Amino acid sequence: MVSISKTVPSYSFGLGALSGLGNFLSTRRVGNQKTLFLVDDYFAKSPILSKLPLQPQDLLELVSTKKEPTTDGIDALIQKLQAHHKDISTVVGMGGGAVLDTAKAVSNLLTNGGKAEDYQGWDLLKVPGVFKIGIPTLSGTGAEASRTCVMLNEKKNLKLGMNSEFTLFNHLILDPELTMSVSREQYFYTGMDTYIHCIESLAGSFRNAIGDAFSHQALELCKQVFLSDDMQSAENRQKLMVASYFGGCAIANSYVGVVHPFSAALSVVLGLPHCLANCIVINVLSEFYPKETDLFHTLLHKQNISLPKNITANLTETDFERLYLSTIIHEKPLKNALGEKFKEVLTREKCEEIFKRM
Ligand code: ZN
Repeated sequence: MVSISKTVPSYSFGLGALSGLGNFLSTRRVGNQKTLFLVDDYFAKSPILSKLPLQPQDLLELVSTKKEPTTDGIDALIQKLQAHHKDISTVVGMGGGAVLDTAKAVSNLLTNGGKAEDYQGWDLLKVPGVFKIGIPTLSGTGAEASRTCVMLNEKKNLKLGMNSEFTLFNHLILDPELTMSVSREQYFYTGMDTYIHCIESLAGSFRNAIGDAFSHQALELCKQVFLSDDMQSAENRQKLMVASYFGGCAIANSYVGVVHPFSAALSVVLGLPHCLANCIVINVLSEFYPKETDLFHTLLHKQNISLPKNITANLTETDFERLYLSTIIHEKPLKNALGEKFKEVLTREKCEEIFKRM
């Protein structure tokens, strides 16, 4: 099978790479055009914020990451920026996966118009978005490399992105200095997102040799980082940043599997953040990923990280029904993992039994 794949065309990589942003932006400014900076509100009081090369005409929006990006939240942001739409020539997203995804969605809507939910699906965008630059400050989601931007559509109980080549960033700044202050738990959960992307891609049926090579290399880097005594050393932060990028490239060439649909349901119904939800799911999925779950447990113990327990203990039948529906809606990854007849494997009862183990 011949597959066509597109990746991010350029990136700056290395400790201190952020300091080159000002020069890069100056090559892109024409007249009084504005750069829109969308920055994780985690940095609201950080000195990093003052290092950003904002010009007087530029716009800065702090993005809250308490919740995953929602279609309503993206629409509200677009509405707020309405007076500036035509003057924004570059969007810079700096933060974790949620902020990067927000930046991608905003960039796309600025040129495509309409509402965020109009583009939830595959190849629905008509034109490229505004030039977008991604600056990850967490490593693992692969959002910097992927061709999607995941959003929760709360009305439709749907977690789905704008899957399109137009969603890819035009440029990345990969600076491992930016992941220095991440908490141990967050660092682990987010790093495991890469691990899970790769094991799901490699276990699936929609694969190609390039995606596999990205997955193998990212997995190798994840093992080196999370089996070491100091997972957050400068060297390991650099390795995890590369692993995250490769993991994102891996899923751009294939699909995820069983973990992400269950994880998405936990985000939709219980509001759990993506990377934590993934860890809670893979922790109990040894029937689908035996060796991979074993290694996950090894890494969890090595890093002395504990996961929340009994998170579904107080749920009602209605909640389990919503969890089931929000899981099986993800047909592409589930077909990738379990084949066309995935609903015969993941019955309503089976899903409830799996959720009850979490
Ligand atoms: Zn993920």
